[in-house]
Amino acid sequence: MITAVLPTYARIDLEFERGEGCWLVTTDGRRYLDFTAGIAVNVLGHAHPYLVKALSAQAHKLWHTSNLFRIPGGEELAARLSAVTFADTMFFTNSGAEALECAIKMARKYQFANGNPEKNRIITFQGAFHGRTLATISAGGNAKYLEGFEPALPGFDHVPFGDLDAVKAAITHQTGAILLEPVQGEGGVRVPPESFLKGLRALCDEKGLLLVLDEVQSGVGRTGKLFAHEWAGITPDIMAVAKGIGGGFPMGACLATEVAAKGMTLGTHGSTYGGNPLAMAVGNAVLDIVLAEGFLDHVNAISARLVEKLGAVAARHPQILAEVRGRGLLLGLKAQVPAADLVVALRVEGLLAPGAADNVVRLLPPLTVSADEADLAVEKIEAACVRLEQALASAPVKGAAE
Ligand SMILES: *Cc1c(COP(=O)(O)O)cnc(C)c1O
Repeated sequence: MITAVLPTYARIDLEFERGEGCWLVTTDGRRYLDFTAGIAVNVLGHAHPYLVKALSAQAHKLWHTSNLFRIPGGEELAARLSAVTFADTMFFTNSGAEALECAIKMARKYQFANGNPEKNRIITFQGAFHGRTLATISAGGNAKYLEGFEPALPGFDHVPFGDLDAVKAAITHQTGAILLEPVQGEGGVRVPPESFLKGLRALCDEKGLLLVLDEVQSGVGRTGKLFAHEWAGITPDIMAVAKGIGGGFPMGACLATEVAAKGMTLGTHGSTYGGNPLAMAVGNAVLDIVLAEGFLDHVNAISARLVEKLGAVAARHPQILAEVRGRGLLLGLKAQVPAADLVVALRVEGLLAPGAADNVVRLLPPLTVSADEADLAVEKIEAACVRLEQALASAPVKGAAE
């Protein structure tokens, strides 16, 4: 018999009762170090007192009014985000996929408004993940997510990630934009060379295309800059944000320059909940902390510490770990054994970390993770490697990595 909740997830059998910073506590009192953070969402950890206060203060005043009325918290958050980014304007959503939907509509509408309605195709990348709506599974192009849901939304041309020549070759008179994650998250924590983003920016300028970035996972401090594209010294025309921006409250945003947003006039887009007072109160509170002096320095310091120590762990356990990669606190352990086995071994040691494609296990701690907690995670990772080596030794036939 089907479960009452649609069975689309292979859920881990853990029931959490509460969270405290980087820790999750089960209903029977076991504590787990949380390097999943709701899949790069809880940037300030669990039950951060400042966020709890902001949300409860707003909850006592007003939850929802719709976008038929002005929402002061949203006007404030938009002004603050545009002050610290390339953006002149933004649309608030409830999720990452909706932020991407807005970005895709905006890119098409920009070309239409410029008198180029034929430029409605967008170049996207193999290994990309942009969400699970029809448009975003079409943009991502992952056959596994599309199977049985065809016809896919037309208008996306997929090329290999990091390959500038392939992008050049794919541009036609119908191309209107290029969409990518500056660091692929679900795709296996794949960081392209800096020259790639710079090259795409130059190509877009030369050909009159919009550069659309999906910073749903890489944004809001995750890579050690407020947004990952800052590492490459370029700015996009449109950017989708979600996950960390709400610190655990469902929200997202589609940011844009005034030029890129020119087609998004009165009545062209909407959302009942997007940018509601609860979300905006939390979004402003998250920003207060992420923009505070020293916050990103902390992310970079912890990242350097983890990368160094994990590099040593990988060198000691070459049968288990092939590579440590990523940027900031969007890190990946490329495994030699099945990544799913490593995920389980980490959980046995009390560390929660999610898998990704390309046989990678991601490390996505709250950005507030302390040096001690980072060191503890490294210990747990090493213990998991030892455990997996013992398993390989006792079952050498099954253990062969490809
Ligand atoms: C998670 C994610 C999305 C989708 O966000 P949802 O909130 O699940 O719709 C889109 N793009 C990237 C890069 C993501 O990591």
